[in-house]
Amino acid sequence: MAAGYVGRFAPSPTGPLHAGSLVAALASWLDARAHAAARRAHWLVRIEDVDTPRCVSGATETILAQLAACGLVPDAPPVRQSQRGALYQAALDQLAAAALAYPCGCSRKDIEDARQAQGLVRTRHAELVYPGTCRSGLHGKAARAWRLRLPDATDAEPDAEVDVDATSVVQWQDRRLGAQRQNVRREVGDFVLRRADGLWAYQLAVVVDDAAQGITDIVRGEDLADNTARQIVLQRALSLPTPRYLHTPLVLAADGQKLSKQNGAQALDTRDPLAALNAAAAVLGLPPATGAVPEALGWWVRAWSTLYNP
Ligand code: GLU
Repeated sequence: MAAGYVGRFAPSPTGPLHAGSLVAALASWLDARAHAAARRAHWLVRIEDVDTPRCVSGATETILAQLAACGLVPDAPPVRQSQRGALYQAALDQLAAAALAYPCGCSRKDIEDARQAQGLVRTRHAELVYPGTCRSGLHGKAARAWRLRLPDATDAEPDAEVDVDATSVVQWQDRRLGAQRQNVRREVGDFVLRRADGLWAYQLAVVVDDAAQGITDIVRGEDLADNTARQIVLQRALSLPTPRYLHTPLVLAADGQKLSKQNGAQALDTRDPLAALNAAAAVLGLPPATGAVPEALGWWVRAWSTLYNP
């Protein structure tokens, strides 16, 4: 029987899980189990190791052991993106054949210069919006990356305030954050599918895999919420279904930023899994649990159903 609900946790093996990543893992596991009463539900783990320079040897095994210690065991063997290049290539070929992807010869400096020439100033930390230089061809440059061709601007979009129907405005409903909206062309531009270093971009790999694995519900950290519109654009370009989305609260570091290895996140200590799980549950607004891990998880599944109403 095919599963009616398929969820996933998709860690990048750049180090062990920390308190923040356990929140996303626990939330996606709970959401799958909360749906299991009504329909057959699967929870998968996908190792997102496409960005090989950032991957740390042994991290995958550590992550899987940390999850298992917390009682979070996937329903099928984990897949690794590093072994799925043929799928990503097929998707890129499909887009290129439909003229929805094009090669780009721009370096970062080229993009900054082109934007400056258009009078666009980039503020710190803002997305470097691609100005579309190679849409019309490589202009004698060598191909470096591949980009998605976003729909052209339409007459219905004369300015920022009245563009709700424009083709590059994506609206979606997040199960926790509510109504979301992004003008992908204005805020991101034609984005990268295959990087200049030959590696697959996160956006392409994640969209292809979510569809190939039949993911119905994506539950992940709120720091990824602003990738969602891009992923929906890509799903549409590839004629793939759009899953439901729920973005979880983040664990913040002392500096107020999202907890990460860069600002001192410690590897999750799973010698006391219930303590680790209780900390993650608290971030999700779930009550504390006592007793053995399986009972605690079972109790949170019921609490989850009332909180997030699956
Ligand atoms: N691999 C991504 C990360 O670890 C998560 C991707 C996703 O859940 O869509 O940040």
